[in-house]
Amino acid sequence: MTATDHTPESAHPLGATHPLALAPVTGPASSVDGFVRQFLRNLNYERGVPLSASTPNDRYMAFAMTVRDYLMARWLEDQKRQREAQAKGVAYLSAEYLLGRQLDNNLLATGLSEIATAAMETCGIDIDDLRAQEVEPGLGNGGLGRLAACFIDSLATLGVPNTGYGIRYEYGIFRQTFEDGQQVEQPDSWLRLGSPWEFPHPEAARTISFGGHTETYDDEGTERSRWVPAWNVLAVPYNYMVPGYLNGRVNTLRLWSAKATNSFDLRVFNSGDYEEAVRSQTFAENISKVLYPEDSTPQGKELRLQQQYFFVAASIGDFLASLPADFDPANLPDRIIFQLNDTHPVIGVPELMRVLVDEKKMAWEDAWGITQKCFAYTCHTLLPEALEVWSVDLLGRLLPRHLEIIYRINDEFLVEVRERFGDDEMRIRNMSIISEFPDRSVRMAFLATVAGAKVNGVAELHSQLLREKVLPDFNEFYPGKFTNVTNGVTPRRFVRLSNPGLSTLITEAIGPGWVTDLERLRELETYAEDTQFRDAFAQVKAANKRRLGDVLRARDGVEISDGHMLDVMVKRLHEYKRQMLKLLHIVTEYEGIVSGRVAASDVQPRTFVFGAKAAPGYVMAKRIIHLINAVGSVVNDDPRVEGRLKVLFPPNYNVTLAERLIPAADLSEQISLAGKEASGTGNMKFALNGALTIGTDDGANVEIRELVGDDNFFLFGMSEPEVEALWARGYKPAEFYQADDGLRRAMDLIASGAFSGGDKTVFEPIVSNLLYDDRFMVLADYSSYIAEQAKVDAAYADQDAWTRSAILNVARCGFFSSDRSMRDYIERIWHTPPVI
Ligand SMILES: *Cc1c(COP(=O)(O)O)cnc(C)c1O
Repeated sequence: MTATDHTPESAHPLGATHPLALAPVTGPASSVDGFVRQFLRNLNYERGVPLSASTPNDRYMAFAMTVRDYLMARWLEDQKRQREAQAKGVAYLSAEYLLGRQLDNNLLATGLSEIATAAMETCGIDIDDLRAQEVEPGLGNGGLGRLAACFIDSLATLGVPNTGYGIRYEYGIFRQTFEDGQQVEQPDSWLRLGSPWEFPHPEAARTISFGGHTETYDDEGTERSRWVPAWNVLAVPYNYMVPGYLNGRVNTLRLWSAKATNSFDLRVFNSGDYEEAVRSQTFAENISKVLYPEDSTPQGKELRLQQQYFFVAASIGDFLASLPADFDPANLPDRIIFQLNDTHPVIGVPELMRVLVDEKKMAWEDAWGITQKCFAYTCHTLLPEALEVWSVDLLGRLLPRHLEIIYRINDEFLVEVRERFGDDEMRIRNMSIISEFPDRSVRMAFLATVAGAKVNGVAELHSQLLREKVLPDFNEFYPGKFTNVTNGVTPRRFVRLSNPGLSTLITEAIGPGWVTDLERLRELETYAEDTQFRDAFAQVKAANKRRLGDVLRARDGVEISDGHMLDVMVKRLHEYKRQMLKLLHIVTEYEGIVSGRVAASDVQPRTFVFGAKAAPGYVMAKRIIHLINAVGSVVNDDPRVEGRLKVLFPPNYNVTLAERLIPAADLSEQISLAGKEASGTGNMKFALNGALTIGTDDGANVEIRELVGDDNFFLFGMSEPEVEALWARGYKPAEFYQADDGLRRAMDLIASGAFSGGDKTVFEPIVSNLLYDDRFMVLADYSSYIAEQAKVDAAYADQDAWTRSAILNVARCGFFSSDRSMRDYIERIWHTPPVI
């Protein structure tokens, strides 16, 4: 057992001075007895209950605290060591962290799983019941938030000093339910029963200001500006442990919660309106109340800008406060890099300038030189509507000094642009951080690009399109600033924890090193040729399907049929991801059977699984969810189908469900319109778990296909240049509808009301949108998709060959570890070596 290496007593930072500092975990803590003793102690002293009277939540909390206790000494030690080493660290600024459940991850990181399981057995407790008690913190929308969670896991595992900074939303992403097939959003009150993983530090709260005006003043002969804000809110830090995998390292995730300042508005108070005075206080606490559920389509809401400034100002202030009092801010770039996870934290750029110029009284030019070395920016999109802008009006009202600073940055930038390119007014308009139409507003991606030391895209194709299509003028102006770091996922959560069967098989074949060195999976290539290994691999897949069946039966009362191919499309519902294309394939298969053109007995049995949340205000996405459910209930209940096609749509897709679904999948659907998906990370999780991909040449699919080989990937659809060419020719979706019988029949069946009890109006907007608009060219890629799906069916018929391909997918996708992503960031952008 490796746990002994990580017990607090082996290196206790407090132990030297006071023997009682060791008290919580002294003795044989890393033994079953020690674990039980500490568990009971937590139950009694932290929960205030004896085992006999404890609730499941009491037992979960006490159990989690016991795991936590093992990490505590290392955590304290790492914080101390990182302060003393004065090494350069990474501050990862992200408005979202889609963490998933913590308990299993922390058991894995400490190597305590076996001891903990045995310990609970002696108490008569099933550890699975404890696991089930944990509510996952859904503090993110989808891929972007999950990426942040993977990255901080990898940094801890690599031993790189890192603090993740974000917002402790009281309500994370909504819980999705269906009523009559339509999405209904329920509040996600993940904190209702308390969280054992967080450590609040109200005493370390920071004051964050908003509103007011700016003024100039004479500072011993120098004219300076200052901000006179109108109102304040407290940012209270909550710390979370981020343990590395079996390396005794524990980094910190620091999420900020908004709290009213205790200064009542005395004017209101004295006028006798006590309630009004209290109300204005709770108003401030709205800032961290709820995660905005928009994914890829931000709304320019004032509260959202408040959230962004709130967490970024708190985080930058927090870092600066951690430096020695005599620290020279000129040396900041040697100590920190602020990585901007998309544009959400970009308001940090003028904030650091404000602190350096207004508060530290640094010359503007010096401050700007430092700022440009302290930030780097990751762009996550290619959709123009996803590029965040803030109206000058709103920004000036909320952050007047920051707006002034942005104007000055822009003025000086445009002077440089004129020096380089002459008075090319068109180019200058195109590059200005301030856009004039439709309203005067600040383009946050441009601000980030001008301020960032580096700008990176998240997959090769995405980075290329960023340079050539989205920010070409900037690429020309700043040679060498743009780079690529292809995304990755953590193999700890998405293979080792979520797929124990496959993990055991891999470890038996090549040893355990792959968990932190995923390229080692290459050694599995030869095993793909080994019949015994293929059989064992197929058995793992079958067991994972049964496990998923158990989960879906318990959760939704649905069954997975034996012998079905499991065809899975899970990701946010967005038109660019093209869940409609998947649905047209299903309707085509169904129509073939009910029209009698295809015998049901000739159809390869398939279960189609969807998982997707739609932004609550995204009407078309919610209609598509409705249609998926409607098609599902008709197809699943039609006896003519003979049970050979099934459509499942378990509600509330989240990390916990992903961990069960992905290891069970045979086929991974990655079918976005080429040039729209920046990277995707779901695609990587599936390939690493031995699903074959059907996908377009988009995002990281391109790199997956290059690595696994054409024979082990189902490619279809237009390439990005073909998409562009079709737009240029003039895309008329109705022509594709007319030209393809299968497509026409499928569309007509939907339009006929066959999935809406004969009511033709319900799904008419979907059909006419496809026929007359179809921004994401679903109809143009339909025939290619259907043809490729036929190849999928044919390939699946040869189970042994399919399994061989699946093994090769696993063996060749080690590149997609987020450990590799982090090494790339470190080498190309951050220059932050591990602190041993
Ligand atoms: C990985 C993941 C995503 C991202 O999926 P994509 O297919 O890349 O969009 C979204 N949500 C959850 C819960 C995930 O685990």
